[in-house]
Amino acid sequence: MKQSPFERAEILCVGTELLIGDIVNTNAAYLSRRLAALGIGVYRQAVVGDNPERLAEDVRTALSRADLVLMSGGLGPTYDDLTKETVARVFGRGMQMHTPSLERIEAYFAATGRTMTENNKKQAMMPKGAIVFPNDYGTAPALALENERGQVVVMLPGPPRELEPLFREQVEPYLKKRCVSILVSRNLHIIGMGESAVENELPKELKDSENPTVAPYCVPGEVRLRVTAKASCESQATALCDGMVEQLLALPIGEFVYGIDVPDAAHALVGALAERGLTMATAESCTGGLIAKKLTDVAGCSSVVAGGAVTYQTREKTRILGVDEALIEAHTVVSDSVARDMAVKALSAFDVDLAIATTGYAGPGGGTETDPVGTVYVAVATKDRVASERLSLGARRDRAYIREVASVRAIAMALGVLRGNL
Ligand code: ATP
Repeated sequence: MKQSPFERAEILCVGTELLIGDIVNTNAAYLSRRLAALGIGVYRQAVVGDNPERLAEDVRTALSRADLVLMSGGLGPTYDDLTKETVARVFGRGMQMHTPSLERIEAYFAATGRTMTENNKKQAMMPKGAIVFPNDYGTAPALALENERGQVVVMLPGPPRELEPLFREQVEPYLKKRCVSILVSRNLHIIGMGESAVENELPKELKDSENPTVAPYCVPGEVRLRVTAKASCESQATALCDGMVEQLLALPIGEFVYGIDVPDAAHALVGALAERGLTMATAESCTGGLIAKKLTDVAGCSSVVAGGAVTYQTREKTRILGVDEALIEAHTVVSDSVARDMAVKALSAFDVDLAIATTGYAGPGGGTETDPVGTVYVAVATKDRVASERLSLGARRDRAYIREVASVRAIAMALGVLRGNL
């Protein structure tokens, strides 16, 4: 049978817990992103509860419009896991035991020292003619069913830690055989410029470019520019992206780009310090340890991050860090001078190469006329110099936003100091 390229995909996630809002449907977002990267258009996403009639109806409806349906959930061993049986019914196929899957499930239970119950065998029952993708991350294998019209339904287990690697490693190569184009994206991470300022700086011909496209979007504390190119092969799409990235870096925006395709500023900072063999510490007030948390989220950070102090009360700033009391009296505890002194004192207390400090008003109470809620002083000290900045993050912003953005901006500032840009 001739296999024509996929034109339209739909995503159908199964689970009553999704419908009642108990869990967030991250699988749909993940699958949409991956399909976009494969150049397959996603036309609809839907969620259906664990009900065989409604599930069958939704599968039929999706197949009346799309040539590819990706499903997640309902592959488990319990009575309410109905996805395979229901899709088999829609396809007019019977179920049969898939021996290689049964053996893998038995081996999985033996290796994890758990007892395999009778209902686990259900996970090895497959619709006749199914293509089975063995699951190295759990017990329920993924599977695909194709009908005589070339339509495909792919069924994946619900837990994201199983679905994501299974999709990447096995389903994607299978789908790629029926893709005509591939999308490649690169993300430029920008801190220190707002979204509209970034957009203003983009020349019209870059904004209007159709391949690659350039699209700004925001995450708290930073703006990202996503460059996406479509081509018939990966190397061509990558080359198109690289050309655009080069043009963007040559613009004034380029100075504010702290990384390309990095997970976030914390990863970029830990990486940059590790590359140089340097160490760092934090002295935090209003961010309450968020900076330390973000940095220690980075695997392998122990060679870089020496430690941190959360000195929330004024007394602790003097007692733990040794901040000069006279300085606090003269400038108040939320001030540029105190932030700088906190950073300098942390530098020597932890005996590190770089220290980050924050002090500010995260609200909703507090603040002064000159320094309202949302004012955060950030300082970064190295052995040669101290840089500082007063951030105005908005008096009406909530506490979580102010703390989040202050911590991202502080980390970005440390990156700037390290690169000699500040
Ligand atoms: P299992 O073998 O674990 O039973 P399953 O394929 O039967 O897998 P479900 O029982 O539907 O999957 O869901 C198992 C868990 O996976 C859910 O409790 C939830 O934590 C997670 N999960 C399911 N669907 C989604 C989804 N769409 N997005 C994010 N998480 C999900």
